[in-house]
Amino acid sequence: MSNITFTMIKPDAVADGHIGAILGKIAEGGFKIKALKLTQLTVADAKKFYEVHAERPFYGELVEFMSSGPIVAAVLEKDNAVEDFRTLIGATNPAEAAEGTIRKMFARSIGENAVHGSDSDENALIEAQFHFSGREIF
Ligand code: GDP
Ligand code: MG
Repeated sequence: MSNITFTMIKPDAVADGHIGAILGKIAEGGFKIKALKLTQLTVADAKKFYEVHAERPFYGELVEFMSSGPIVAAVLEKDNAVEDFRTLIGATNPAEAAEGTIRKMFARSIGENAVHGSDSDENALIEAQFHFSGREIF
């Protein structure tokens, strides 16, 4: 059980003005911010970040969406971070997400679903290092 996860506030939620509210939910959820920045993925970055989904029918749409505008990238710390953060964000499809979860409150759709959360300790580390240099993680 590791204590680090990686998240992005996706382009839909940034465009819809939800950065502050989502960071508030993250803080209320007991997560500490270890790294944070406003940035934008290139098409190549988005392809690489989501390459495990390359064979899925929505891959092209996902890459186009994730590179379409600014995102907030962050590394978060808490006991049991990966699992607890996925509980806080809710199901991939906001229509199926529990009340009070970030996706239920802020997502537009299954594709434009407001936030990313790492799915394993191993991927959390890979994803954090994809976005941040050592000097940017505190
Ligand atoms: P997550 O771990 O809950 O983010 O979900 P996945 O790892 O299964 O999928 C990665 C991302 O691809 C999701 O967060 C969505 O942005 C997108 N995605 C997943 N399923 C669909 C889908 O059926 N249609 C579209 N357009 N996008 C999807
Ligand atoms: Mg996933």
